Amino acid sequence: MASKVYFTDMRCDVGVSLLEKLTKLITKAEIDKIDFNNKFVAIKIHFGEPGNLAFLRPNFSKTVADKIKSLGGKPFLTDCGTLYVGRRNNALVHLEAAFENGYSPMSTGCQMIIADGLRGTDDVEVAVAGGEYAKTAKIGRAIMDADIIVSLNHFKGHEAAGFGGALKNLGMGCGSRAGKMHMHNDGKPQVAPNVCRGCRFCAKFCNHGAIEFGDDNKAKINHAKCLGCGRCIGTCNFNAIYNDNASSNVLLNYKIAEYSKAVVDGRPNFHINIVNQVSPYCDCHAENDAAVVPDIGMFASFDPVALDKACIDAVNAAPEIKTSILSQREHHSDHFTNVHPSTDWRTQISHAEKIGLGSSDYGLITI
Ligand code: SF4
Ligand code: SF4
Repeated sequence: MASKVYFTDMRCDVGVSLLEKLTKLITKAEIDKIDFNNKFVAIKIHFGEPGNLAFLRPNFSKTVADKIKSLGGKPFLTDCGTLYVGRRNNALVHLEAAFENGYSPMSTGCQMIIADGLRGTDDVEVAVAGGEYAKTAKIGRAIMDADIIVSLNHFKGHEAAGFGGALKNLGMGCGSRAGKMHMHNDGKPQVAPNVCRGCRFCAKFCNHGAIEFGDDNKAKINHAKCLGCGRCIGTCNFNAIYNDNASSNVLLNYKIAEYSKAVVDGRPNFHINIVNQVSPYCDCHAENDAAVVPDIGMFASFDPVALDKACIDAVNAAPEIKTSILSQREHHSDHFTNVHPSTDWRTQISHAEKIGLGSSDYGLITI
């Protein structure tokens, strides 16, 4: 049976704010079917790497938190530490980054908890029902301690997964640093020496010192130091960095789906995608390139697979912005693959569906 996905566009009549439309959207999507009374509710969010301006404004979080509080719940905003050494790799700098980006108890009306603790080591090993690539998943403890999980996701492109939506925020985002390592470690990138121009730009973004230069001034990735986070792939303006294991992006997507299942299984869950500032890369980047399509709208569903599929379809149906990276790309099949030719978003959706996380078959209800 098709899952219901609720949608509202970004248009606002005078006197009606986008935030009021968001409240109306999640109300119509029947978030109140969940019994929130006196329950801890983890709202999984991405606070944005400092420097990135495409991340969701805290106002969206406040709107969702206020709705949950009105239903009797006790919400908190949460994320886990990053694998790479950026400004969100331990709880102290992560919270500082969140504050810098405008998140606070005052701006959002709820507390913020870094779910995997000070050093990213406080996780729970959760069995993955039907998991083929991850029999267990290492998930941030505070997320697993919550009674209910709500994901609030900025929908955009992603350099390894193809797209970043609910599944990415749940699967990769709720993994502890060890969990993220587990998801990422099937592939480490390579540099095509005939394409590399020796500009050394990529090296600034590898916080593990894994990008080295020889006498020929060509970048080389030292796989002994590389963690396989994939962050450098999107930094090269000449597409010289690529994933040498064609299957690794696929395996990453399979594991993201399985980790997502570990997060939502056995407890109430609800998911919201905001499809605005559809940047080509993840909000983990300390910069964001121009949006590839115009802002589309807000989507909500109990089914994270249907939700992401509806957003993928909406983005692909939208015209490309000519001043974006899409104009520099060869066109292969759709916007996501055009931006990142080595990725295949279908593998994340199909595997999530296969393991029973949700359905790619959806009915769109526009409000
Ligand atoms: S950014 Fe690209 S072109 Fe510049 S050194 Fe790195 S791989 Fe080479
Ligand atoms: S070389 Fe690239 S993939 Fe490896 S750790 Fe550095 S940024 Fe991450």
